[in-house]
Amino acid sequence: MRVCAVIPCFQQELRSSALEVLTKSYSLAMSLGEQSSGAQSSGEQSSGEKAQVEAWLIGPEAETHQAKAAQYGASILRLMNLEVDADQGGVKVSLGRRWVDAIDEIMTQSTSELNSEGDASDSTLLLFDNTELTKDILGACGARLGAPVIADVVDLSWDGKQCIAQRPTYASKVMSKVITSGSVCLCSIRAGLFEPEEHPVDATTHHYSAPTTDALGQVLQALVAPEGDTVDLTEAPIIVGVGRGISDETGKELVAKLAELIQGEIAISRAHFESGMYSHTLLVGQSGKVVAPRLYLALGISGSIQHVAGMSESHTIIAINKDPDAPIFEIADVGIVGDLYQILPALNQALESKKDE
Ligand SMILES: Cc1cc2nc3c(=O)[nH]c(=O)nc-3n(C[C@H](O)[C@H](O)[C@H](O)COP(=O)(O)OP(=O)(O)OC[C@H]3O[C@@H](n4cnc5c(N)ncnc54)[C@H](O)[C@@H]3O)c2cc1C
Repeated sequence: MRVCAVIPCFQQELRSSALEVLTKSYSLAMSLGEQSSGAQSSGEQSSGEKAQVEAWLIGPEAETHQAKAAQYGASILRLMNLEVDADQGGVKVSLGRRWVDAIDEIMTQSTSELNSEGDASDSTLLLFDNTELTKDILGACGARLGAPVIADVVDLSWDGKQCIAQRPTYASKVMSKVITSGSVCLCSIRAGLFEPEEHPVDATTHHYSAPTTDALGQVLQALVAPEGDTVDLTEAPIIVGVGRGISDETGKELVAKLAELIQGEIAISRAHFESGMYSHTLLVGQSGKVVAPRLYLALGISGSIQHVAGMSESHTIIAINKDPDAPIFEIADVGIVGDLYQILPALNQALESKKDE
């Protein structure tokens, strides 16, 4: 049985979501080992096979992240130095098709290697982080490998035969349980839910050549730079969510000060997507980013289902709203009823004086 963390390697540093995927892969493999030994000691039939944790490091920085992947529990490293296009005015672009080909290639080659070594595996779980890239390629990877796909998973178990996942549906109103079976299954995991944990192991490395991608059907016509901030909200540990309750420049300055003091990143509800006060790239919710920070501060956000769909899995939610019946209080861990224009100056001042102590 193989649990494979698929890690795109674009940057010098591995994203926290990649470490979370490695951590989840490790814990699934360990639980399979426990299931296997438990079955043997109770006399039940068991394959006796333990799962291997593999890291598929794919991208121009694949070599860079070998040590980190082993530190987080991957004992088999499969490396592919996949170049992204760099000929669009110096901006690096990745075409989804190239990733699908790469994953298909590693699957085919590694399966054949294991078979020839007499180490054939009857089931493989591929885990991805739930980034924009994954959203782009996951379905295509599933189709290519003939395997089921479960996206945006918040909890997952696997016994080598069945994959049982929890994922939010209907804008997070309902948590659905999805069960798949088959020899291969693909899942993407929502960022921010599994604390990265180190499990250092000795690893063996296998290298693969990038396949030649037939680029037909994919034409990159233009690159449009995002406006304003390009913060990766999915990686931010602290988010200051701003809603219609902040309605002018004074409010915007108070929010900016607060975000600076608590080292948070600013996100917005759709009210500000429409007001134009902030960059639309900061939208959280059904039509925007899905985030799960350690702290989500909801300022003047009513708590519509469309907004909540993007932040309900935050570890701690603090809401400030002048309406005691605002639905955001139903999901908030701490609720403060009051006027933001009175609360924020006092809060900033208190934080400022704390900083000076
Ligand atoms: C198909 C579809 C997709 C959508 N996708 C998204 C999405 O991805 N993300 C998203 O956010 N929305 C989305 N929406 C819009 C969503 O339905 C809500 O309209 C939006 O989230 C409301 O934003 P808000 O909470 O900031 O504003 P409001 O609902 O107007 O709430 C403002 C809140 O601020 C409080 N307030 C006002 N003044 C103060 C003050 N001085 N001090 C304290 N509190 C104050 C009010 O009591 C109120 O609760 C979508 C809608 C549709 C139909």
